[in-house]
Amino acid sequence: MGKDTIIREIDEEKIKKAVCLFLEGIGEECEREGLIETPDRVAHMCGELFSGMGKDADQYLMKTFSAGGGGMVVEKDIRFYSVCEHHLLPFFGYAHIGYVPCGKVTGLSKLARCVDTYARRLQIQENLTNEIMEGVDRVIKPKGVIVMLEAEHMCMSMRGVKEGSVKTVTLAKSGCFDKDPSLVQEFYQMVGR
Ligand code: ZN
Repeated sequence: MGKDTIIREIDEEKIKKAVCLFLEGIGEECEREGLIETPDRVAHMCGELFSGMGKDADQYLMKTFSAGGGGMVVEKDIRFYSVCEHHLLPFFGYAHIGYVPCGKVTGLSKLARCVDTYARRLQIQENLTNEIMEGVDRVIKPKGVIVMLEAEHMCMSMRGVKEGSVKTVTLAKSGCFDKDPSLVQEFYQMVGR
């Protein structure tokens, strides 16, 4: 099991009340026809947007199988959607994961499930990147792992100077990727960046 074993329930009643207050706060009326069902919709949607809270992401990576050879395994362009904990607005993009196996590898779809579980929480991109890296490191125990996230943040894109979509890129790595810069270069080449 991972470290997140407490299942947190979404309290829909609290969210509904908060959405009503929020609407009033921005000068709207909860009872306006177009808004009458909005608190319900938002409360219901939160169950899906934050379904990764309290969920154990390690369970997906545990299904490993042994593999010969020691070449780098790369899973790239894993789409993810998350919510920025500073502004409660979405940020979304792609995750690229590379690791050098030490005898075992995980199923390809399992990395995507792991990313999804960590993304469906309130997050900041740096922590999301680290949590994915640490999860792969902890469960698959490879010689090294590298995780790169590229994302557009609505809290940046919708505010201030709007010069197209600015991407934020974050990187986290361990083991052989820390020691050998040529492996990092190989990873960049494999993900085409
Ligand atoms: Zn933000």
